[in-house]
Amino acid sequence: MMQKLCVIILWVLLMPLSLGAQTLRERMAAHVSFLASDSLQGRGLGTRGKTLARDYVVNAFVDAGLMPFHGQWLQPFGFKVSLVQVSGHNVMGYLPGTDSTLCHEWVVVGAHYDHLGLEVDSDDGTYFPGADDNASGVAMLIETARHLSMNRHRLKRGVIFVAFDAEEIGLRGSSYFVAHPPVPLSSVKVMFSCDMVGMYAKNKGVHLKGIEALAQGDPLAGALAQSHSLTVLNRGFRYEKHTDTDPFGRKGIPAVHLFTGTVSPYHQPGDQAHLLDYDGMVLLNEYFRELVLQLSEASVLTPSDAFVAWQASSTRPKNFSWGLMLTAGEGHHVYDNRYYRANSVPVGSVGGYVQMNLSSHVQLQSELLYDFSGSDHPGGVFRRHSVTVPMSVKLTTGVSSFDSPQLFVLGGPWGRYHFGGDDARFSNVSSMAQYEWGLSYGVGLSVWRLQAGWVCRRAISPLFYWDGDAVRDVSNRVFLGWQF
Ligand SMILES: [Zn+2]
Repeated sequence: MMQKLCVIILWVLLMPLSLGAQTLRERMAAHVSFLASDSLQGRGLGTRGKTLARDYVVNAFVDAGLMPFHGQWLQPFGFKVSLVQVSGHNVMGYLPGTDSTLCHEWVVVGAHYDHLGLEVDSDDGTYFPGADDNASGVAMLIETARHLSMNRHRLKRGVIFVAFDAEEIGLRGSSYFVAHPPVPLSSVKVMFSCDMVGMYAKNKGVHLKGIEALAQGDPLAGALAQSHSLTVLNRGFRYEKHTDTDPFGRKGIPAVHLFTGTVSPYHQPGDQAHLLDYDGMVLLNEYFRELVLQLSEASVLTPSDAFVAWQASSTRPKNFSWGLMLTAGEGHHVYDNRYYRANSVPVGSVGGYVQMNLSSHVQLQSELLYDFSGSDHPGGVFRRHSVTVPMSVKLTTGVSSFDSPQLFVLGGPWGRYHFGGDDARFSNVSSMAQYEWGLSYGVGLSVWRLQAGWVCRRAISPLFYWDGDAVRDVSNRVFLGWQF
């Protein structure tokens, strides 16, 4: 009873903010100023401020006339943040499609409502209001829901409205939604994430990154932009990986980031409600809600060929790859008793490599290199030409791509065959080895077609004996690989 009373009181307190304001501009400003207000303290993880924001969205969805899934507005989920169990809640509602066939398909409109909360180590209660990030997106979500609800007779496909939680801590809410969707994921034809949409004028336009992932998306968005006198900047078919579009895009769903740039005081206490461009938000909302309406009406919505091809190439790592390998660094000999000391000389190698992906974290790499090695020896500078074949296991943080660099460590044996060099003056030494073997170990970074890092090659077999001491080759090199 007490809880119910609290909800009613809250509802009475919050409603005037959205109902009292009459124009679209006033309603948008009211949403933002409430969500970015002092009392919500930046809507941080596990705070009362975020719960208030959540309840505000629920009330706005009820007010807009949306329907809940199975009577529930909230989709609760849990996750761990450095061993602490945290709970989150997505807020979901929908408008059904009216077409007997297309009503089984869906358009998803999302915006995250969480933000960063209090500044860590702040003793004066400094918080991040997150007006642009992402009170602006929630305002866009609510007003789109409200308008589409009033025009629900036009909707052929259904539209799901969802305010995602825990975006700032790693897209937790949207990832949970995709893992536990209220409708089959295959029926979701396009998804929008409204994330930071309050700076249209300053950004000189809006980004619709990912719109070309939908075959019908770009022509429609372009024509509408013209009739609304709206400037669309970034389009393309690649989805944005740093907002809630990512979990959807990974599942092959065309996912579009509605975004007016990081021109606000991004992730700073200065991201305040009074800085937002409410005229721009009105222009954008009038455009966006019509875009969603027309997408719901389109006779067919399919992913574009470019998106499908990119998706296929980025999700299926090549099992085999090969390319060029260069190394450069220093080499020197080491002696068993350390009586002699050798100085470094420049060494280098050039050749090719083949790499096999055993899994997304384990790779085998084999190289075939012409190697120029040596050492500054007490008996003179020692130089040799050889063929070196390193075989390495690479443990990597993942399969790298253009915008996803990965770290790796490598280790394994190598063998070397000497075929020349100016070691004639060492002809007095006993048992000059023609073959050597040893171990390599190193670290590196791979991104796109490149891999680069550091490797140490340490011989285990002696190269020769000098005054009865075994002499072994060591080199430290930087390497650079280019995949064909
Ligand atoms: Zn954001």
